[in-house]
Amino acid sequence: MSDTNLGVAGGDTTSHVDRLPRRIDLHTHSTASDGLYTPAELVRMASTAGLDLIALTDHDSTAGIDEAHATGAGLGVSVVAGIEINTDLPSGGVAHVLGYHLDWRHDAFQGALEELRAARERRAIRMVEKLNQVGLDITWARVRALAQGAVGRPHIAQALIEKGRATSVSDAFDRWLSKGRPGFVPRVRVLPEDAVRLIRGARGVPSLAHPAYIQTLEDDLLPRLVAAGLLGLETYYGEYPPETVERLKGLADRHGLIPTGGSDYHGPGLHPTPLGGRFVPPEVAERLGQAAEELRQAPAPGFALELPEEE
Ligand code: AMP
Ligand code: ZN
Ligand code: FE
Ligand code: FE
Repeated sequence: MSDTNLGVAGGDTTSHVDRLPRRIDLHTHSTASDGLYTPAELVRMASTAGLDLIALTDHDSTAGIDEAHATGAGLGVSVVAGIEINTDLPSGGVAHVLGYHLDWRHDAFQGALEELRAARERRAIRMVEKLNQVGLDITWARVRALAQGAVGRPHIAQALIEKGRATSVSDAFDRWLSKGRPGFVPRVRVLPEDAVRLIRGARGVPSLAHPAYIQTLEDDLLPRLVAAGLLGLETYYGEYPPETVERLKGLADRHGLIPTGGSDYHGPGLHPTPLGGRFVPPEVAERLGQAAEELRQAPAPGFALELPEEE
């Protein structure tokens, strides 16, 4: 089954409507980045939860996609090849960009992801050094071992918990890892526009993740990202209450964006929404697939990610 085929296993006699996925989660993480379950485990859990379509959206890595596809094929769970790229805003907030239905084997795309993962390693090494300077004896070797794929702050959090320096991942962020805390080192500067262009370069459908708290969203960021090629806005996210969903739905409609959604599931103790714990309307997945089909009709726009020198 191709990753753009939104149908689930079924006979030829099933009508188009019957074949639409019914239970969908378009935002999940595995051990390819900072999730706690392997791609195969995640897909098995999705099947148990009654999901028939998930997107695997690991940070800066597509390493889990083959395994997720293979497990999904045996269980009737369609897996959309996805990505999440974390970027910072000059104004101080963060903007995470999701990508869906990627031509993920694309060389230039994989080269850019490799660079982003290398930047993650340099950042994590510096964060470990800073934490050592304030007397915490965690090691890069341990953090690297906890991260099976793309390393991130949640892996440093895990190392801090092991040493009794934090009681939970969010406690580790609050004490040590968030901006302004002793272990913090800024991420390499990537503009959200460039994350959008990178995803479009791999013929993916870009969507702005969990946008509700971005201060400059309506007046500034969204128009800029739409101009760069954004096609979706994450609307049905985790615990967003109905009024937030309505606001984002209105915003998505005004900009002609697909209102994507999902749990942002990472495993226990990381994000609160369970896998499949957020309803995503089936037509959203259908629109996403149609948008991807349209992108496949045209050559991919070229784009080379250039990371700035780090001090
Ligand atoms: P990084 O990309 O290495 O900067 O790590 C950011 C990731 O850590 C996010 O994508 C979230 O999954 C997770 N994260 C960020 N803040 C928190 C927090 N306060 N508690 C738990 N997880 C968090
Ligand atoms: Zn994450
Ligand atoms: Fe995110
Ligand atoms: Fe995420």
